Amino acid sequence: MEHMEIAIQTKVASAQGENESEFDDRSIKCVDCGENFIWTGGEQTFFHDKGLKNEPKRCKGCKQAKNERLAAIAAAQSSGVRQRIEVSVQCAQCGQQTTVPFYPSQGRPVFCRACFLAARSSEINSAQG
Ligand SMILES: [Zn+2]
Ligand SMILES: [Zn+2]
Repeated sequence: MEHMEIAIQTKVASAQGENESEFDDRSIKCVDCGENFIWTGGEQTFFHDKGLKNEPKRCKGCKQAKNERLAAIAAAQSSGVRQRIEVSVQCAQCGQQTTVPFYPSQGRPVFCRACFLAARSSEINSAQG
């Protein structure tokens, strides 16, 4: 009987010890960039504790990029028609192709950013002078 007790005590002790480092760090290949990243034992413990099923497939950078993409798509969908627009136009000043975030009204000159800022600052200068 003494034997049994010792065996049980040893088992309990080792189980407690394992709790700290139950998982070894794992190297996983990111599905997006193909780089290996480390899934740490601590992260695996968290994953296990939360009862999560889908193991990570992406490194931190790609995971964040993916989340941002999804957030941008969700935002665009929820906002419906209010999506960002980009209209290709030719600058009335320098003739360069540029894009503007609005539909220019007919007959009105459209400037690229540089010309727009230049025009605006000269306007301010003439107003002051
Ligand atoms: Zn990656
Ligand atoms: Zn211009």
